[in-house]
Amino acid sequence: MTRVSVPVWECGDWLDSQREPGSCVPSSSRSRPLEGHEILEPTGRRREVGEGSSLTAQGLGVSCSRLQSSSAQPGRKLDATRAVPPETLWPPSGLTSVLLSLPPQVFHEQGILFGYRHPQSSATACVLSLFQMTNETLNIWTHLLPFWFFVWRFVTALSVTDIQNDSYSWPLFVYMGTSCVYPFASSCAHTFSSMSKNARHICYFLDYGAVNLFSLGSAIAYSAYSIPDVMVRTAFHDCYVPLAVLNTILSTGLSCYSRFLEVQKPGLCKMLRVLAFAYPYTWDSLPIFYRLFLLPGESAQNEAILSHQKHMAMTLLASFFYSAHLPERLAPGRFDYIGHSHQLFHVCVILATHMQMEAILLDKTLRKEWLLAHSRPLSFPQMVAAILLCLVFSFSNIIYFSAALYRIPEPELHKKET
Ligand SMILES: [Zn+2]
Repeated sequence: MTRVSVPVWECGDWLDSQREPGSCVPSSSRSRPLEGHEILEPTGRRREVGEGSSLTAQGLGVSCSRLQSSSAQPGRKLDATRAVPPETLWPPSGLTSVLLSLPPQVFHEQGILFGYRHPQSSATACVLSLFQMTNETLNIWTHLLPFWFFVWRFVTALSVTDIQNDSYSWPLFVYMGTSCVYPFASSCAHTFSSMSKNARHICYFLDYGAVNLFSLGSAIAYSAYSIPDVMVRTAFHDCYVPLAVLNTILSTGLSCYSRFLEVQKPGLCKMLRVLAFAYPYTWDSLPIFYRLFLLPGESAQNEAILSHQKHMAMTLLASFFYSAHLPERLAPGRFDYIGHSHQLFHVCVILATHMQMEAILLDKTLRKEWLLAHSRPLSFPQMVAAILLCLVFSFSNIIYFSAALYRIPEPELHKKET
């Protein structure tokens, strides 16, 4: 183990004065391999930088242009291992600057070393961080841009439909509406998650609620357009959406609860969260599995099958990135800004939704005649009741778990189990 002074950049008084920001001048040695070296975390713990990592001025992510002081003394070396108190490594929270080192443990992401925002950022700083390269920037944009794309598709579909008289299309609009909600909630969660520890949890509670709402929207669309011939008007068909409502409520509760285990039992936390998303998805997909792998009936043998297959494959890929934390786990520090697993997960989820939408639209068009003749569609009050039940119970869950954040003493919530 080599303890290293990191001459990545030359910095003014910022660190030494512990309060006064100073000007920073990136040095010529912008990228320097640090294998086997250690850095000081804000918690005071020293940690080894993984093999292949490099510490760069860009990697450190401090917005130097915003750190200006009359007391600047350019030319001084920054020693990343100096035993300064952890909080002195943080720039003031009002700035959009990102951290020089790792934030408190609850903010840590596996394999991500740099680019964290200040853990007590203001709302303005969070919004401005959309335009500053941090390890969350692409997480935000990979859902914010698709949100507008799905809104555009939704509005376009609405504009060419006689909504009042075309009850056959109502399930589609429920689905398209929920497909706009979850990318928006996700981009908001990633934007404002650095305001505080509790704000981070609450942001993601809302994100999970939105994902589960989308899961219900998918079930309503599948029930209306994609269910195989042999399942139409069966007990399964009758129970399918009511049980999807129940799943969304349970899943929101389980995924919110998993956040309370994030620091103490990260393995169990991850397992519960994957389970919380996997089982409603599996329930929703049972009609599609039947279509893909069994004999679905004549009307369900159509071109939509290919889009359903692509959707399944893309969802599997998304699950892989979400749970495996690859590629950043293999090369910590290399993918902090671009290419880490959560960004890839976001991209795969959006592509999966796009393919799912294509499949549902094809089914809606190609099976219209058969479905109108044989199926028993959900009525408008049934769909409204399903969505309202999901919203009421999911929000109740979110409020309950948000209140619990303030009831539980912080050391209990954030301490690492030994
Ligand atoms: Zn996300």
